Parts: sequence; structure tokens; C-alpha cells
Amino acid sequence: MEFVNDVIAWKRDGRELDAARVHAFVNGVVRGGVPSYQASALLMAMVLRGLSDAETLELARALIDSGKTLDLRVLRRPVLDKHSSGGVGDKVTLVLAPLVASCGAIFGKMSGRGLGHTGGTLDKLESIPGFRVQLPQGELLRQLERIGVAVVSQSERVVPADRVLYALRDVTATIDSDGLIAASIMAKKVASGTSALVLDIKVGRGAFMNDLEHARELGRLCRLIGETYGRPTTCIYTGMDAPLGRAVGNRFEVEEAWRVLGGEGPEDVRETSLTLAAALLALSDLGIDEAEGRRRAEEALASGRAAEHFERWCYVQGGRWKPGEFHHLAALEVRATRDGYVTACDARAVGQAAQLAGAGRRTVDDAVDPSAGVVLERTVGEPVAAGDLLAAVFSRDAGRRARASEVLQPAFTIGEAPPAARPVVLGRE
Ligand code: URA
Repeated sequence: MEFVNDVIAWKRDGRELDAARVHAFVNGVVRGGVPSYQASALLMAMVLRGLSDAETLELARALIDSGKTLDLRVLRRPVLDKHSSGGVGDKVTLVLAPLVASCGAIFGKMSGRGLGHTGGTLDKLESIPGFRVQLPQGELLRQLERIGVAVVSQSERVVPADRVLYALRDVTATIDSDGLIAASIMAKKVASGTSALVLDIKVGRGAFMNDLEHARELGRLCRLIGETYGRPTTCIYTGMDAPLGRAVGNRFEVEEAWRVLGGEGPEDVRETSLTLAAALLALSDLGIDEAEGRRRAEEALASGRAAEHFERWCYVQGGRWKPGEFHHLAALEVRATRDGYVTACDARAVGQAAQLAGAGRRTVDDAVDPSAGVVLERTVGEPVAAGDLLAAVFSRDAGRRARASEVLQPAFTIGEAPPAARPVVLGRE
């Protein structure tokens, strides 16, 4: 297409794309008029040249306009949402959704599946037998009204252009652009009816963003898009050098989330969940600030109200939740080779090991095994003696167990002294 060729050249030469060019490109991608080789070339020019704020806003607008937008205003209350930029062992949505709802706000989320070394909330929920992640719109609205919580799969009709572009970006090394990422995340939020949003932007070796400064730039762009559409957005920056919590793998993560909902579980999962809950409750219509939001969320965990709300949510969405009731697969153990302290536990390697065990997919068509995964016995800062159990890999297949444990063993670094403690929450704005 001649016109697209000109648009590619325009961006290649470092000139700013105007609204007409951005919209023509996105429309052409959805309608099939722009072939994937031209779309890929323009995406690469966008990555190399970067997108201005105006281009990022136009791209978000074009993505939103590419499909249907969900109108949740019939609920006459704000619907809160949370998005994580992707991490390993990140089961926070499973805690946060019933926690926020048990405090009287409405939490509604369209979620995705795991790809690569990071997990996806839908796969985690589907590890609960019977849990339905596809709800007709009427049922979704009734559920939000009745119990204040629903997590469902992204509708195919919402932001269809992002599905095409994301698939292309995934195979053409064009994911890494702040503007492309911000427009992709926020277009889906705006189009799916979110009223206010907390973004958990992960920073570290296991995340898209390796440093806080870069993560803040992504946060700034997301907040800019949120403000433009009247969707207040708070960004919380959390560490992702090591996995969150000790469980990585779908059903293992639900079990760990359940422990946190019961007032137990790993401190990093609890702290992240409480921080995000406080920020969300302050964006709700309850008329409270973050300090009061935190107090209410802590009380909901301590009293068992949040855990009860989780049980109710599972029941209403079709899930038969029984803690501890799942298929225990054979395990292969990884042990410490020396005495000392765990100074690093590489989130990316642990995520890859869980994926190899069967908990994640390499391509979108792969099936996941809900009972496969990795459980960490030791994590950063803890003392170990040679021969101590560091982690166990659970998989149906002996070959997968062996490959996963080969990746897992070097994930651990053991040093003479404990590392300096790092806060769970690195910043917010
Ligand atoms: N997540 C998204 O939804 N889009 C991106 O571009 C990257 C991460």
C-alpha cells in the first residue's frame, strides 16, 4: 500500500505521526489492508525513533476505536481495576480482587493468559475446577452488582487491533517501546470500562523494566492516557528481581493467595496486596484516604472476611474451591551446594523453570498443566547449609522435571553474607 509506505518512511526519518496517519495505520491493520510486513516495519520505526506523548495518545485512541467499548456506567458506581506489568509468582490479583470487594468497593477486571516466563491470572483461576472466565455481559454486570467482584477474559471485540499488533510485536522484537506498551495497556483498560486503575509496575531482572527510572517513564505515559480519558491512575513500583512469594505455577499460586487471604502467607505478597488495596480503595467512592483503606484491608484479612469473599466469588463464577485439593505431581529437588545465604533468586530463571515444568506456554496455543510449577523452600536473605532443599519442581513428565531443575539450580546465588534488605514497594505516584 503506497500510503503506508510513506507513513513508514515518515517515521523512519524521525518525524512525528499525526492523528490521520496513526488512525489509518491501525484501521488498516484491523481491516487487513496493511500487510504484516508493513505493520512490522512501522512498529520497528516506532521502537527505534520512540513515540512522542501526542503519538502515544493518538495510538491509544486508535486502538480503543478499533473495537467495542464496554459501558459499566449502569452500575452507577466506579469499577476499580488493577494491572501488573508482568512478573513471576505474581498472584496479587487473586488476593486483591476479593479483598477490595470485601471492603465494599467494586473490582472488575478483564485479564489475560500467561505467555513466556510470566504467568497469567486466567490460567491461575482456571486451576480451580469449574471456574468460568467467560461470562456474557449481562451476567458480568449482575455479578459485579451482587458480590462486587469479577475477573473475566478479555473480550475479542474489545481493542481487536491490539491483539493483531501484540502478536506481531511478540515475534519482531518490537515489544520494548514505552509508548507502544502504555497505549496497549491503557487502551484495553479504557475500552473495558475501568473507572479507576492501580498499575503495579514491576522493576527488576524478571520484569520488562530493569530500572526504576525507566519504569517511571512507562508510569507517566499510562497516567497521561488515564487522565485524558478521566480514569484516575495510580502507579506503584514493586521489585521483580526474585519471584513474588514462594509459589510459581497456577494452582500453587492460588493456594498461596488463599494463605495470604487468611492472614498468613509470604510477607512480600501480603505487603504488595495491601499497598495496592489501599491505593484502590482511595480511588473508590467510599470517601476514604489510603491510610484508612489500608486499615480496612488489614482488618478484612485478619477477620477472615476477605477469605470468605474469595470463596463466594469462586462459587458464583462456577469454581469448586477446596484448599489443598489438587493433583500432587512428582517432584525433583534442587539443593544448596554450599553453606551461606541466598543472595539472589533469579525471577526470570524460576519463571522459565515453571514454564518448562508445564505451568506456562511457549506459544499461545500451548496447553498449561494447572498442577505443575516450582515451590521455593528458600528465598533471598535466608541462610542455607550445603545439601538443604532450595526448591522443588513439580511436573507430570520426568524429562520436563529434569530440564526445569537444570534451569532452576543456577537461579540461586549463595554468598557469604546476607544481602542488604530491599523494600517490596520501590515507589509510587
Ligand atoms: N502488556 C500489554 O498489555 N501490552 C504490552 O504492550 C506489553 C505488556
